[in-house]
Amino acid sequence: MLLSWLRGREGAMTGLLGRLVRIESSSYEWEGVNRLVTLLAREWRRRGARVTRLKSAGVSRRGDVLRCELSAGTSAAGQILVLGHTDTVYARGTLTRMPFRVAAGRAYGPGTLDMKAGLVIALAAVDALRAMGHVPRRRLVFLWTPDEEIGSDTSREIIEREARRSEAVLVLEPGTGTSGKLKTARKGVGQVTIEVTGRAAHAGVNPQDGVNAVHELALQIGRVAGFGDARRGITVNADVIEGGTRSNVIAERAWARVDVRCARARDIAGLEARFRGLRPILPGARLRVTGGIDRPPMERRRAARLFRQAQALGRELGLNLEESSTGGGSDGNFTAALGVPTLDGLGAAGAGAHTPGEYIRTRSLAERAALLAALFRSL
Ligand SMILES: [Zn+2]
Repeated sequence: MLLSWLRGREGAMTGLLGRLVRIESSSYEWEGVNRLVTLLAREWRRRGARVTRLKSAGVSRRGDVLRCELSAGTSAAGQILVLGHTDTVYARGTLTRMPFRVAAGRAYGPGTLDMKAGLVIALAAVDALRAMGHVPRRRLVFLWTPDEEIGSDTSREIIEREARRSEAVLVLEPGTGTSGKLKTARKGVGQVTIEVTGRAAHAGVNPQDGVNAVHELALQIGRVAGFGDARRGITVNADVIEGGTRSNVIAERAWARVDVRCARARDIAGLEARFRGLRPILPGARLRVTGGIDRPPMERRRAARLFRQAQALGRELGLNLEESSTGGGSDGNFTAALGVPTLDGLGAAGAGAHTPGEYIRTRSLAERAALLAALFRSL
């Protein structure tokens, strides 16, 4: 029933997705994010939700956080938190090269998969419950944040506050692969910056008076690369480096930004300690090491029970749901780390997130909305 009703709504859902995608909403361009927030707020108000816009309060202006609350069928306590984000990784203007289009069962465009389809799925799930005459068992809070793609600086506190009063968190990030496997584990993610100060000198006249910051940095990168441990799910990658001025000047400064990930919370302290324990290798060089893991890992034990429930509900809908783990982080990392059961990857299925070929399979819109509605009814 749920799924067949939603199948009939696939065209409308795809149409709404097109409207959302055509409002460009890069994390760094708050005006665009807020235009999207205005459209979504209107959609939620039309469905009787209590809608609140929370202004971002960081150093740099970001879009607003949108909180939409639907009351439960009974006065029974408890809340389910649904997480999504309104920002994308695409700068304004991307749409001219990468327009929204639908072809052969796919909808293409910037942010279709990650994760404007998720925003559509949530609205459709609520519509389907209504149409079937069902009411959610608990209060539903939908929290759409404006800066997930750049670390959630302005929304992390709000996410954690809502999560603490929730029985479960459902995250509408895309599923894994074109079959849309649910995500039951994510690595913890962070960044470490290594800054080296050496001493400038003429590379030909008096090189012996210099301390080469680029050489020192290269040695340090070799060292930190060894911190990785595939067996334990630890990866360390220096992905951005900069240093020096000209080829005939011994480099005085150099720095590297290092991506750091780990699968288990208990590995964080040891990994960070190894970075803090770095000491200069070349005589006279100085080192400054800052940063660390800022999204803790989402460990599978927080999702296992929810996944089994989702899988059973999926079976009733005729959907075969599998689980997956990923090295990428999401806002689900924050809520799982608080000990709140968190199931991620409930958004659309597709491929090419963050690339020019990004798309969703349009049939997954109805499937995921049906699954979400079923979860609202039974959680
Ligand atoms: Zn995302």
